Amino acid sequence: MSTTTGLSSRESAVLAGVRTGLFIGGEWRPGSNGVVAVDDPSTGEVIAEVADASVEDAQAALAAAVAVQESWAATAPRERGEILRRAFELITERSEDLALLMTLEMGKPLKESRGEIAYAAEFFRWFSEEAVRISGRYSVAPNGATRLLTMKQPVGPCLFITPWNFPLAMGTRKIGPAVAAGCTIVVKPATQTPLSMLALAGIMTEAGLPEGVLNVVTTSHTGQVMGELIKDSRLRKLSFTGSTEVGKKLVAQSAEQLLRISMELGGNAPFLVFGDADLDAAVDGAMLAKMRNMGEACTAANRFIVHESVADEFSRRLADRMGALTVGRGTLDGIDVGPLVDRPSQVKVGELVQDAVDKGATVLTGGGTVGEQGYFFAPTVLKDVAPDTRLLAEEIFGPVAPVTTFSSDDEAVRLANDTEYGLVAYFFSKDLTRALTVAEGLDTGMVGINQGIVSNPAAPFGGVKHSGFGREGGAEGIEEYLDVKYVGIAL
Ligand code: NAP
Repeated sequence: MSTTTGLSSRESAVLAGVRTGLFIGGEWRPGSNGVVAVDDPSTGEVIAEVADASVEDAQAALAAAVAVQESWAATAPRERGEILRRAFELITERSEDLALLMTLEMGKPLKESRGEIAYAAEFFRWFSEEAVRISGRYSVAPNGATRLLTMKQPVGPCLFITPWNFPLAMGTRKIGPAVAAGCTIVVKPATQTPLSMLALAGIMTEAGLPEGVLNVVTTSHTGQVMGELIKDSRLRKLSFTGSTEVGKKLVAQSAEQLLRISMELGGNAPFLVFGDADLDAAVDGAMLAKMRNMGEACTAANRFIVHESVADEFSRRLADRMGALTVGRGTLDGIDVGPLVDRPSQVKVGELVQDAVDKGATVLTGGGTVGEQGYFFAPTVLKDVAPDTRLLAEEIFGPVAPVTTFSSDDEAVRLANDTEYGLVAYFFSKDLTRALTVAEGLDTGMVGINQGIVSNPAAPFGGVKHSGFGREGGAEGIEEYLDVKYVGIAL
């Protein structure tokens, strides 16, 4: 692996410890298309090169997954669960190195990376426990003449495509339930952040996962290589986390083989603050909902919709907290906000802010890029944001908080639902009746009441509308990887 000279010896050592080939059938191989570079977003410098797979390489990965599907499905559920449990323990033991690796490839501060490593590992612990709870049912048919038996069986070989913003957790959220259910896997991490997934492949091998159950393919020819796998009749399931735009293409492509599909797509989360809210708690929640992952999260609060009686106070307090955050290279101590992932993201966030300012918004803090090197953007709060600004309609994916106001509960819910997306909504209120009414009225797959974070391995994560379909985590997560077979028995 080639590395830059600007890295510390520990950073270089952590990078050097990662295998960078294609992981196929338990072996590391070079890519037929050479290598593809990985950058550090805080400097723009190349920190690693990983294998660049061709269509044939990816087909070899699928062949490896197909070859062991039957034997893997026949393993004891306890054995599958214990492999996941060992992988959970190994990830936890190595969380410091894994966090540094993630920060180097993705940019987020070390404390955010540590949080993601813990979250990612928890999916393995959760699904190690779910592996032994796969069950069917036995019942008497209404006419009494036959018996009805249902059994759940693994869907079969799966393809996982994951995004750069959570390089490990978006993988473990799929790999955990698939392994627990007895499915085999080809995973393609994002080209910008492949290293965490490659490190995970090594850990899964150490944890005892048999060869061929998990295969990792990195490629810069993404559309072509994934397109060929999706067409392949040996594949049974596609699970994708990423943008709505790409997700729609994949849904169309997956129709050819009628694949089972799960789509975890973009969001435009509203964050409602009612007049009766505990404002201290609401500002704490807002910081979490906005700044987890520096705003580069599908769950990030995208629109702050605040009752007119508390909007000035809330905006001022939020601006004070956002303005006090320290921006810098994520590997350094005391950093709250790292760089955005790349230059186009930095430019896009700047354009969204400029559009809002042009349409009359007031900047309370931040408002522009920070420094010359890397892709930094200042934590920003805007008030008096006009309804027709792009900020309110598009996924911001950066540390920018636009504040608008409402005057009645009906208006709050109408504004919250005024988006094509439907992943998550947050609101703060102390009134129980209002809380239940508003929660029922929100068109989202998830709702956070008086809390700014909903992600939890024990809960079903997922959206409605253009945020996709399918659920990851919770008791529901494993169902995405199981087919139900019904057996009728005559007496
Ligand atoms: P993206 O551009 O859609 O990319 C996601 C993945 O899809 C990457 O691995 C990418 O590969 C791959 N890809 C791109 N074009 C493809 C094609 N034509 N065929 C097959 N695969 C293709 O999204 P992103 O920018 O990485 O991630 C940010 C988006 O993910 C945001 O919209 C965010 O809301 C969403 N997200 C959703 C959730 C959720 O759970 N709902 C969680 C996290 C993120 P390359 O890297 O090689 O381009």
